[in-house]
Amino acid sequence: MAILVVGSVALDTVRTPAGERRDVLGGSGTHFSVAASFFAPVRLLAVVGEDFTEEHRRPLAECGVDLAGLARVPGRTFRWVGEYGEDLDNPRTLATELNVLGTFDPVVPEAWANSPVVFLANLDPDLQWRVLEQVSEAALVAADTMNYWIASKPAAVRRVLGRAQIAFLNEGEIRQLTGRRNLLEAAQDVRDLGPRTVVVKRGEHGVLALDGGQTFALPAYPLRRVVDPTGAGDAFAGGFLGLAAREHERRGRFDVRQAAAMGSVIASFQVEAFSLDRLRALRHADIGERYEAFRRLTGFEPVAD
Ligand code: AMP
Repeated sequence: MAILVVGSVALDTVRTPAGERRDVLGGSGTHFSVAASFFAPVRLLAVVGEDFTEEHRRPLAECGVDLAGLARVPGRTFRWVGEYGEDLDNPRTLATELNVLGTFDPVVPEAWANSPVVFLANLDPDLQWRVLEQVSEAALVAADTMNYWIASKPAAVRRVLGRAQIAFLNEGEIRQLTGRRNLLEAAQDVRDLGPRTVVVKRGEHGVLALDGGQTFALPAYPLRRVVDPTGAGDAFAGGFLGLAAREHERRGRFDVRQAAAMGSVIASFQVEAFSLDRLRALRHADIGERYEAFRRLTGFEPVAD
């Protein structure tokens, strides 16, 4: 089952306690695509500028991501500058330069219009909406967003979430969007907008999910060293939806807990290096091993009376 993703393709400048990288490949669409490509065919709809070189494109192409919808237009590629403190919590955004993203008009290629799974990665919610209008046959729509858009276009963000079956939000974003501090209440508020499943990403504290009438929580996979948290949320969504698409194809259904566990595993690899460095070197065997280790870490037996 192919996944169509629309999102940002960026040149990121990132500072973390482990170091700094300038103008490295990033963006919500990029991180998601590479993560999901381990499980399902991925089609990336995005825009870049003239400063986007073959070198930048290579990691995406090497992962087999279909780039027929990656438009290269006059101007500069979207840029984001972010900095993380010692706690590696939410980054401080130092600059957001929309550049070619400011005039992006996403047109879904005809051959992609029947994509069964659609991921609306963090992007201007009006652009996410325009894509939604072009993929009316999608069986599964998932959406993500970010504080930048919640602050500037809250109604548009709500409109998009209302059409998604799965919403991915981090804890800061969901509190900002709903005005609620309690995460269960906040997640319920988002469910009331429309999504059946709301996944709250909590960084090093893991995830909390409301799925139908059920609630569940997972810790993050514990790591000794985090180098760069950028893209963790998108990698989580990529692992989650990638596995969901693969399982749906094979078995006609997917399990939200398994998908959330796989999202956590892929996100844990993402943060071990800058940009795409860790995911580019990742093998299926590494994923399988860490998934099993995570299963052992989180499983426990009932106690006898
Ligand atoms: P995350 O998974 O939340 O860490 O996403 C990080 C990615 O989001 C970075 O690679 C940035 O290029 C991208 N990004 C940052 N701000 C925005 C924005 N306002 N719109 C779209 N993408 C963004």
